[in-house]
Amino acid sequence: MEILYSATKPTGKLTLGNYLGAIKNWKEMQENYNSIFAVADLHSLTINIDKKELNDNIYTQFATFLAAGLDPEKSIIYCQSHVKEHAELAWIMNCLTYFGEASRMTQFKDHKKKDKVVSVGLFAYPMLMAGDILLYNTNVVPVGIDQMQHVEICRDIAMRFNARYGETFVIPKGIIPKVGAKIMGLSDPTKKMAKSEDNENNVIYIEDDDETIRRKFKRAVTDSLNRIKYCEEQPGVSNLLTIFSCIKNITINEAEKHFEGLGYGELKSQTAQAVIDELSPIRQKLRELKQNKTYLEEMMKKGAEKARLIASKTLNKVYRKIGLVI
Ligand code: AMP
Repeated sequence: MEILYSATKPTGKLTLGNYLGAIKNWKEMQENYNSIFAVADLHSLTINIDKKELNDNIYTQFATFLAAGLDPEKSIIYCQSHVKEHAELAWIMNCLTYFGEASRMTQFKDHKKKDKVVSVGLFAYPMLMAGDILLYNTNVVPVGIDQMQHVEICRDIAMRFNARYGETFVIPKGIIPKVGAKIMGLSDPTKKMAKSEDNENNVIYIEDDDETIRRKFKRAVTDSLNRIKYCEEQPGVSNLLTIFSCIKNITINEAEKHFEGLGYGELKSQTAQAVIDELSPIRQKLRELKQNKTYLEEMMKKGAEKARLIASKTLNKVYRKIGLVI
């Protein structure tokens, strides 16, 4: 079986975007790949994050993976900082990347425009991510469209390394799920639904209760065209159709047919109900898991042990290839 690697950053509460764009697909993919899923805690340090919030987010995110059905018997599930090889390989990746190519990363450019200060860590984010992927001889990396550029730079660095030092890294490929690649905000459907959002109404969090989910969908922005069609002119309606079709595992076309002749009220309430049906059992399980920190820590430790077995082998090979004495 091919190897799959993917991760989320514990920089905030996980959203419906994370769930539909990542976790839900992971759950399905873990049946067909040797999968490795990480809480990318080192990545979250690239922004200034409160210590307590970070700590809570790490436990919650790990617990969400388990609650959503990622299976530690089938897949490796761990926290990035528990495997020190990530930080070590990242340095090698930094040394192999040109300043110009790292400067072209859209995510970095966006932050630079928006934020008052940006850290060197944020600049080096794609190189840490490249190391994450390459440590595990990864074949496929399922990502949202926003992360595709980072998978591309990872491939470039890996090919550069192989050309310079001989065949070492497997060249991974990024894959984007057909639907759910980009879930947009509910109040501003031109903006990605993100953990870092200030406007609570724009985002559905996995931990939102049923009433909150219903209320947020009720307020979702649509338009005055009064037709349920997936198209550029109707970003709000299209986003609701995307969410509905992702959860129901149907195509956008089928979702459009399902809502034929119905109004926006029905589109919103049925989509809200679909989200509630999907998320509420996960939320319940998550609550139970969060109360058992010892169990979570035990699972984190087991996952990290399995991950290190692979990661340390790769790092040793890399060190040897570049001429370090090991
Ligand atoms: P992050 O939130 O940056 O830690 O992303 C974790 C994973 O969730 C990545 O694969 C992202 O592409 C995916 N993701 C985050 N937000 C969204 C969204 N609004 N729609 C689809 N996928 C998303």
